[in-house]
Amino acid sequence: MHKKLFIPGPVEVRPDVLEKMATPMIGHRSKDASALQRRISDKLRQLFYTKEEILLSTTSGSGLMEGAVRSCTAKRAAIFSVGAFGNRWYDMAKSNNVPADLFEVEWGKPTTPELVDEVLSTGKYDLITITHNETSTGLMNPVEEIAEVMKKYPEVVYCLDTVSSMGGTKIEVDKLGVDICITSSQKALGLPPGIAACSMSQKAVERAKQVPNRGLYLDLLSLYEYIQKKDYQYPSTPSLSHMYALDYQLDRILEEGIENRFKRHKEMAEVVRAWAREHFEIFPDERYMSNTLTNIKNTRNIDVADLNKKLGERGFQISNGYGKLKDKTFRIAHMADCTMEDIHDVLKNIDEILGF
Ligand SMILES: *Cc1c(COP(=O)(O)O)cnc(C)c1O
Repeated sequence: MHKKLFIPGPVEVRPDVLEKMATPMIGHRSKDASALQRRISDKLRQLFYTKEEILLSTTSGSGLMEGAVRSCTAKRAAIFSVGAFGNRWYDMAKSNNVPADLFEVEWGKPTTPELVDEVLSTGKYDLITITHNETSTGLMNPVEEIAEVMKKYPEVVYCLDTVSSMGGTKIEVDKLGVDICITSSQKALGLPPGIAACSMSQKAVERAKQVPNRGLYLDLLSLYEYIQKKDYQYPSTPSLSHMYALDYQLDRILEEGIENRFKRHKEMAEVVRAWAREHFEIFPDERYMSNTLTNIKNTRNIDVADLNKKLGERGFQISNGYGKLKDKTFRIAHMADCTMEDIHDVLKNIDEILGF
């Protein structure tokens, strides 16, 4: 039996979107391939609220995260972390010989604008990374407040991980002053895993030109220049199948209306939060809860693996805690094309299994 996914990626993908993955191939140097990539970029610009260039990558989101920190750090990177994915960005910097320092806060707490200001005021850093929506803790960072602080540091390239939030909540890239905003297909966008996208500002482009060893496959400047020189093509062979599906899914997202989509995510989040408060507790600081997933403190010490096994028999799957939170929390995702009916359905089944 297929288990309907309520895990924070990959998410449930609509059958009509899956079908687009089976579109017959075209040459990746054809006019059709350029037109396809251009259409995707134009639509992503709307979703990202940006006028900047959009880069695609035939990798998951991690590829562009690694590419960004390596391609655009000339001096030293300040990596702000609120959980597992922030820490991973630090590991990426270190393993690429990019000078970097990690500023990790207690899990469940946000990166505050005060911390960003304090770190950047040392003048040591020319790039920062922030996790918008930390999937390991279910926390959404206060990026509007961080944007205010960033106005003081125009020389710093600002990279934002929106892998698990873009398409599920409003992120106004240009207004927030984000130079590289990264997302991936298999979360709030509602596609199979295997393609990632980011915006790249002129500031980030100019910075990359000053960085000597940017690698090759994940060099953001090469992705950017190929788009300029070859009219929206990709340096190597991209996953055209994902591009067909993405092009189609973006039409669906725009048809739903992006504001409606964000509202739907918020409403689903509110239902899951209310349920979580009634039976358990919410893990992160409640002022910074994620709109795309809820991380629930396992205050009743339930056997999450057993719950998931029983849910599986009923055709549902949720997620345990991430890393060190494995049995301490469990997570319910409410993102992409998930509906309110789906949410009520999964919660009702959990209630029955746990005897609530
Ligand atoms: C899933 C996730 C990643 C990793 O993305 P992949 O597409 O799996 O490479 C990075 N950051 C966050 C916040 C995520 O949720």
